[in-house]
Amino acid sequence: MPCFKNRMPNLEKLEESLCKIPDDEVLGEIAALLPECAINKFRVGRSRIYDEPREEESNLEAFTMILDNSCQSVVLMKVDGHNVTFPSQCCRKLYSTILNEEPDEVIRIPQNCSTWHELRRFRVTGSRCYELFTYNGPNWNTKAEKYFWPKSFTNKFTKHGLEYEDEARRAFIDATGCNVVQCGMVVSHSNKWMGYSPDGIIFENGHPAALLEIKCPWNGAKQTITEVVRTCDYISDQSLKRKHKFYGQIQMGMAMLNLKKCFLVLYAAFDRSILILEEEYDEEFAENMIIRIKKKYFENMIHIICDKDDK
Ligand SMILES: [Zn+2]
Repeated sequence: MPCFKNRMPNLEKLEESLCKIPDDEVLGEIAALLPECAINKFRVGRSRIYDEPREEESNLEAFTMILDNSCQSVVLMKVDGHNVTFPSQCCRKLYSTILNEEPDEVIRIPQNCSTWHELRRFRVTGSRCYELFTYNGPNWNTKAEKYFWPKSFTNKFTKHGLEYEDEARRAFIDATGCNVVQCGMVVSHSNKWMGYSPDGIIFENGHPAALLEIKCPWNGAKQTITEVVRTCDYISDQSLKRKHKFYGQIQMGMAMLNLKKCFLVLYAAFDRSILILEEEYDEEFAENMIIRIKKKYFENMIHIICDKDDK
């Protein structure tokens, strides 16, 4: 809502001059002050009021809400308070110079573009967090090198997933009527080594309420979702198995975005069938996982970036 309080002097001026100026000018003044009022909609037509800049404005408002909500995550605060030791001074210095992008800028960068890939490079992200949580060495140099500089970001499975993500999201919206906001990567100021790129954030009553995570399994190109789920290794009894990277992914997402619920959407492109699972936030799991990853990131991984920088 615009703040009318600051505009009162203009309103007074308008009132004063109402009887002196021609109708068009009066309407122009009204338009400038109250672009959404009924008179103005009649005057310029709805299409001009709801054009793209307005869309952009409402997105920015939603992004601000997403980031404000994320800042209040209890787990993120605990993770921030959990001290780790840098292996040497070079890493401390390096960490102060990288990953300093502003969260409100990062969230506007569209997912999957080259800038987004670069913003992810040195961060622990949702899809790659569980592998760090479960890796206990001994070869951290190789692990970190492959993590920070992967040979390829995509394979046939991720390509298939990307190709059908929009279609799956639309199927979810059609089935539920949910209000889904799409954004770039969410990063936190207090834990800048982490980043999460949600497939969507569901808003209820104008506030972020649940995470949306979409999976388009490769088998879904030739099978219905019921058939896919019967043989897939991460679903049992209509819910996500705890010992799977997708579980780690959505738990990190809910911790970072400060959301208590996640809708996991499984979509088969074959017949456009969809399965929607509701997953709860497991705060204890998320806290334990993220703190363990933080220790590994700072003690075993970050120095490989210093080494690369020297060469
Ligand atoms: Zn170092």
